[in-house]
Amino acid sequence: MNGIALVTGASRGIGAAIARALARDGFDIWLNYRSSDSEAEKVKKDIETSGRECALLKFDVADYEAAKSVLAPLVSAGKVPYAVINNAGFRKDNLLVWLSTEEWKSVINVNLDGFFNVTKQVLPFMLNKRRGRIINIASTAAHSGMAGLVNYSAAKAGLVGATRALALETAKRNILVNVISPGFIETDILDGLPMAEIIKTIPLGKTGKPEDVAELASFLCSDKAAYITGQAIQINGGLC
Ligand code: NAP
Repeated sequence: MNGIALVTGASRGIGAAIARALARDGFDIWLNYRSSDSEAEKVKKDIETSGRECALLKFDVADYEAAKSVLAPLVSAGKVPYAVINNAGFRKDNLLVWLSTEEWKSVINVNLDGFFNVTKQVLPFMLNKRRGRIINIASTAAHSGMAGLVNYSAAKAGLVGATRALALETAKRNILVNVISPGFIETDILDGLPMAEIIKTIPLGKTGKPEDVAELASFLCSDKAAYITGQAIQINGGLC
């Protein structure tokens, strides 16, 4: 498979694992990140060592104009990604009674607006190509909710709704849109959580690895997943 995959938030964690897996599958990678320059360079080096191209696209997905200024010149020049993985995200937890407007807005801006800001730039060009895959990375929190994560759960549930609607809009142009909802995956985002207690609640009795999520993204970007669209697939060790 040859083509370009745009992966947001791919300097670390799940995004970096998805970028490496898709490069292994034959994609050249557009690697977005916000601030971790040395980590992004390392992922780029790994991808180039594996024989694929990797362009670093540094911008904040919460900033519409920044996304446009980086992506519009690329797609206008005829470079159109086959796959877009909207993965960039972060948490800022608080109980709603104490949640500040900034904590609410910043989490919605990155996790939900980021999907809009990035997808808007490339979708018209993907529609013209009449093929493509969009994967939005949500969370188990979108489906079951989690105390202290009202902002994050709302943003991720919004992504699930947006995915179902967009899948209907793009199906006739052969663009398949799905959600991956991870549970507890071993990345920096888990810092500060009481993992010993949390693991007791996971039916499989362990956290997942970024590579577990990356293999699902790899499958959803492959020809093997050609009849799957509008779905939210949870990968969480059996959490309900
Ligand atoms: P992570 O290790 O903290 O990595 C987050 C990545 O997103 C980094 O590459 C970071 O780039 C980038 N990023 C954050 N804000 C950004 C922004 N505004 N613009 C561009 N890039 C941005 O997190 P992760 O665990 O891999 O999470 C990846 C996705 O999975 C997120 O959407 C998260 O909500 C979701 N998820 C994770 C888990 C889990 O247990 N790990 C569970 C459910 C859902 P910089 O370092 O350059 O800032």
